[in-house]
Amino acid sequence: MIKVLVSDKLSNDGLKILESAKDSISVDVKVGLTPEQLKEIIGEYDAIIIRSATKLTKDVLEKAVRLKAVARAGVGVDNVDLAFAKEKGIGVMNTPGGSTSAVAELALGMMLSLCRSIPFADASMKSGKWEKKSLIGVQLADKTLGIIGMGRIGRKLSEYARALGMTVIGYDPIVKTDLAGIKRVELENLFESADWISLHVPMTPETKGIINDASIAKMKNGVRIINCARGGVIDEAALKCGLDSGKVAGAGLDVFEKEPPAAENIALHPKVIATPHVGAATAEAQASVSSEAAEIIINFARTGQYLNRVA
Ligand code: NAD
Repeated sequence: MIKVLVSDKLSNDGLKILESAKDSISVDVKVGLTPEQLKEIIGEYDAIIIRSATKLTKDVLEKAVRLKAVARAGVGVDNVDLAFAKEKGIGVMNTPGGSTSAVAELALGMMLSLCRSIPFADASMKSGKWEKKSLIGVQLADKTLGIIGMGRIGRKLSEYARALGMTVIGYDPIVKTDLAGIKRVELENLFESADWISLHVPMTPETKGIINDASIAKMKNGVRIINCARGGVIDEAALKCGLDSGKVAGAGLDVFEKEPPAAENIALHPKVIATPHVGAATAEAQASVSSEAAEIIINFARTGQYLNRVA
C-alpha cells in the first residue's frame, strides 16, 4: 500500500479510478496548497499526482523523503525540477497523448480567428456596429504554415492545416524520422518562408526566446505567430515591437512569460488574440489525462514500473 497525494484539481474520471484501487493505494486530495503547506506534508507521501499548478521545486523535493513517483496529468513537466528528482531517485511520468487534439484544435482556432478577425468582429457587433470595411481578412488556403516542434501536437496541427489547403513545413532538430510527409527545413528557412508560424516545443534552454528580435527580423512581412506551447519561447518584448511595426500582423497566444500576466501585458495588444493557458482544457482532454495519471500511479503501486517516464 502506498500513500498518494493529489495536489491539483483532477477530473472525476481520474479520481474514480484512484478510488477503485483501494487495495493498492490510499489517496489524499489536497488542492490549492501553498509551497509552505506542501513542504510540510509532502514527506508523508510515496507518490504525487499534479497538473501544472503544483511546483515541485528543489526545496519542495528536499522535504519529499518517501517520494518515489510523480505523475503529471498533462505533457509539460517544466513545473518539476527534473534534475533534482533524478538525483533523488524519484521517477517523473507524464500523460503525453491525452491533450494532443485539444491543443492542436486551439492552435487552429487561433489561426482561423486571427485570419478572419472573428473576436474583433464579434466585439464590434456587440458594441452595436456594422463595420465591414475594416474586416477584410486573409485566407489560410495556399499559405505556408511553419511548425516549430514536430511532435504529437505539431503533427496533429499539420494534418488540420493540410486539410485546409496549406503547405506545411516543419523544423525539429531531434525527431529524425519522416515528419509525416511534411517538408523538413532549417529554422532560418522556416522563418524566411512561413506566412504563419506555430510553436509546439517544450520549454528548454534551446527553445527559450526562440522567437526574438533577430528571428522576427528574418520573417516575412505580415507573418502571424501562434503560441500554444509555453510562455517564454517567445520573447514578448520582441513580439510587441514586431506587432507595433506591422512586421507581425497578428499573434494568437495561450501561454505567457508570466502566468497570470502582469497588468500591462501582451494580451492587451490590439493585434493579439489571447486565452488563459487553456490548451488542454477540454472535457475530453482532462478526462483522458486524469485517467491516465491515475492508471500510471496504480500501476506503479502494483508493479514498481514507471510508465511514460520522462526523468
Ligand atoms: P512532443 O514531445 O510530442 O513534441 C515536442 C517536440 O518538440 C518534439 O518532437 C521535440 O523533438 C521538439 N523539440 C524539442 N526541442 C526543440 C527545438 N529546440 N527546436 C525544435 N523542436 C524541438 O510534445 P507535444 O505533446 O507535441 O507538446 C508540445 C508542447 O506543447 C509541450 O512541450 C507543452 O509545453 C505544450 N503544451 C501546452 C499545452 C497548453 O495548455 N497550452 C498543453 C499541452 C502541451
